[in-house]
Parts: sequence; C-alpha cells; structure tokens
Amino acid sequence: MHRFHPLLALQLRDHLGISGDPPDDLRAFLDAVNRAYARRDQDQNELEAILEQRTRELLTANQELRALVGDMESRVKERTRLYAEVNDRLVREAAQRKRAEAKYRGIFENSAEGMFQSTMNGRLVSANPAMAHMLGYATPEELISAVNDLGADLYARAEDRDRYLDALLREGRVASFEAEFHHNDGTLRWGRLTAVLVRDAADRPLHIEGTCADVSGRKEFELALRAAKEKAEELSRLKSNLLSMVSHELRTPLTSILGYSKIITRQFDKVLPLLGANAGSIRATERILANLSIIHVEARRLTELINNVLDLAKLESGSVEWRMESVSLEEVLAHSLDATRVLFRERGLALDSAVATDVPPVLGDRDRLVQVCINLLSNAAKFSDQGTVRCCVTREGGMVCVSVADQGVGIPGDALDSVFAKFKQVDDTLTGRPRGTGLGLSICKEIVEQHGGSISVQSTPGLGSTFRVTLPVHR
Ligand code: ADP
Repeated sequence: MHRFHPLLALQLRDHLGISGDPPDDLRAFLDAVNRAYARRDQDQNELEAILEQRTRELLTANQELRALVGDMESRVKERTRLYAEVNDRLVREAAQRKRAEAKYRGIFENSAEGMFQSTMNGRLVSANPAMAHMLGYATPEELISAVNDLGADLYARAEDRDRYLDALLREGRVASFEAEFHHNDGTLRWGRLTAVLVRDAADRPLHIEGTCADVSGRKEFELALRAAKEKAEELSRLKSNLLSMVSHELRTPLTSILGYSKIITRQFDKVLPLLGANAGSIRATERILANLSIIHVEARRLTELINNVLDLAKLESGSVEWRMESVSLEEVLAHSLDATRVLFRERGLALDSAVATDVPPVLGDRDRLVQVCINLLSNAAKFSDQGTVRCCVTREGGMVCVSVADQGVGIPGDALDSVFAKFKQVDDTLTGRPRGTGLGLSICKEIVEQHGGSISVQSTPGLGSTFRVTLPVHR
C-alpha cells in the first residue's frame, strides 16, 4: 500500500477538514473523503431542513402580516367612514341649529306674548318687543336699560317678586303667577307670568326664562264679577232677612185671623137660635158664615204661601241644614200615604200602592223626602175628581223611583215644562181660581236635585198625570 508523504498527508487532512490523524495512505484518504462527503450530505440535509422550516415560518409570518395589514386597512376604512358620517351629521346639525335659531328668534321677536330672561338678582338680560310694548317701552333695549331691579322698578308690590322667586327656587317653575306691574305711562297693569329656573351643571340657579301676558282686562272683569257676587250675596242676605221679617209680621196677624174666624163661626151656633125664624136674618147669617169661610180658606192659603216662599228662599240660598241618612222610600211613602189618606177619602178617590221587593235605601233627608211625596199626593188628590191614584216604589239600575199616577184633569203638553217653575199654575178653566200656591213642585224639584236625583212628569189632559222622582241608591 502506497503511503503518503507525511506533509501531503497533513495537507490532505486540512483540505478535507478532518480532525485527528491525517490519512496516511490512499485507502484511508478515500475513507476520509467518503466520510467527509457523508458529513457534508448530512450537514446539507440538516441545512435544507432548517431552510424549509424557516421558509415555512416565514410564509406563516407573511400570511399573518397580510391578515394584520388587511384588518388594519378595513379598520382604517371603517373609521374613515365613521368620521365622514359624523362630519356629515355635524354639518347637518349645524345647519338645522341655524335654521332653528332663526325660527326661534322669529318667534321671540314676533310673539304676541312677552318673553324675557332675567338674572336671579333682578336684572333683565333680554326681552322681546311684545314684553317691551306691554310695559310701555318702544324697544326691548329701552326696557332693559330702564329696569335695574325688577322687584323695585317693575313690580307694584316688591313682596310679589319675593313670592315668585320663592316658588321658583322651591318648584323650579311657576305657572300663571299673577301680579301687578308698573307701566311706563304711570298706571298699573296685571300680568300673568309663567317661568322656569335654569340651573348650571352644579345645580346652582343661573337665570330665569319666562313669558308674561297682560291680563288686566280679564282681571278687571274678575274683580267686577267678585264685587257683583258680593253685592248679590249681600242682597240675598237682605232678601232673607226681609222675608223672615215679613213672614213674622204677616204670620202673627194671620194666626189671629184664622183663630178668630174659627171662633166666630163656632159662636154663631149659639147666636143662631136667638135670631128666631126671621127669613131676612137667616139669609144674613148664611151670608156672614159664607164670608167667614172665605176669610178662613184665604187666610190658610196665605199662610201656606208664606211658608212655601220662605221654604223655597231657604232652599235656594243653601241655608237648609240637611240631615242625610240611609232612608227607605217604602217607609217614606207609607208615612206620606197615612198623612194624606183623609184628602183622598174626602174627594172619593181610591188609593193603591205597590212596592217592589228588592228596593235598596237612598241617602237622604227623611222629612224632606216625606215633604216631596206629600206634595205629589196632595196634588194628585187636588187635581182629580174621580178614579184611582197609584203609587209605586221601584228600582231602576242605580236609582230608586217613586211614582204617583192619577186619573185626574191632566196637564196640557205646552204646560208640562213649566209646572216645576215658581208660581206656575195651569189655568183652572172650571173655577178660574188657583187651588194652591204654585210653589209646591218648585220646592220638590229643589229638594230632589239636592239629593242628586230628578223629577219629571208625563200627562194626558183628561186622562191623568204621572209624577216620577228618581234618587240614587245609597251605596
Ligand atoms: P200648587 O199645586 O200649589 O198650585 P204646584 O207647584 O204643586 O203648585 O203645582 C203647580 C201646578 O202644576 C198646579 O197649579 C197644577 O196646575 C199643576 N199640577 C200639579 N200636579 C198636578 C196633577 N197631579 N194633575 C194636574 N195638574 C197638576
């Protein structure tokens, strides 16, 4: 085997990059070469694997980067779109605000109602032309410079402004606050203020904004109305006093007239036998007795009239004391029938009454309800010459109804509405003389309406009349 020169062997070792002993013969050299190749192939493979790995990593990184860039781009696009939208909106809003400002300025300038803005310590910040004119100034500027202190310069009574400020601080707003103001012409005018208190972000009062209308005309009317009402009340008091005075003055002699006419009639029984059978004296006595009867009847009618006039005056002036309680109309009707039975007997009339089983009580003044029923029953007796008078108590939903139906003279259609009016009496064509006072039904109406009920009549002349009273059920 050929051996290499040691120097060559060293050179070959370095050339082949071998560590350790250099190849000393060709075989060793070839082995070393092969090993070197094998090592190089292995290194190359490893390098290629690393390269492939790196390339993959680079590709992934590149993809991620692209995704990131894409994401960034779409975000930028979205932001740009949003900014454009916001910008458009702001431009639109600014234009709208401008239009609104112009509109509100127009309203402020042209309003017929006074508008103002004032500070808490009583200075006017702004006012519209209507406000200036209302207070007698040519322009808002003139008004603003003339008023240094609203309380002292404009309000007729400074305490009104204090009340107004108190209400504003308490409620945050005032509505329809009325006060008197100094007009520039030296007179006083009534104004109606509606205002709100404007506060800052820290809730501190900033200023007041409001409107003011001149209500002097209405106020004068109200004051005149109040004066007229007071006058009317005074007159009504006078009327009541006069009525009770007159009634007292009339009732006392009437009691004497009634009493003495009765006594004289009775005393005639003793005088008559003394007169003997003289025809002239008998005729004279009969005439005296007939006249005495007229005096008696008329005195009774006058007493009834006075009582009715007084009762109606009391009802109309609201000075009646109502004793309201739960009342059974069945019992009221029974009591009224007992009180009037004699009238029906006297006039030969039949009486019939029917009460439904399920009738609840009403809330009322028992005696006054008896008064209504007695009046309706007396009328039925008074205005009937024959037939039956039928009384019913029924329930109609939330109401209880009492009806009194007669078969008497009836009431003509054109007089039906007026029978409840004061002093209204349907003409009595038979006798030409009134049979009552014409106040009974007016009194009934007042009483029934005071109970929240109603009274009505249906009638056919010649066949009879039905009066109905309805009252709410007592719950
Ligand atoms: P008065 O009976 O005292 O005259 P009212 O106010 O009770 O007064 O009645 C007013 C009028 O209504 C009566 O005068 C009469 O003409 C008429 N009137 C009342 N009730 C009846 C009745 N039941 N039938 C016919 N007419 C009646």
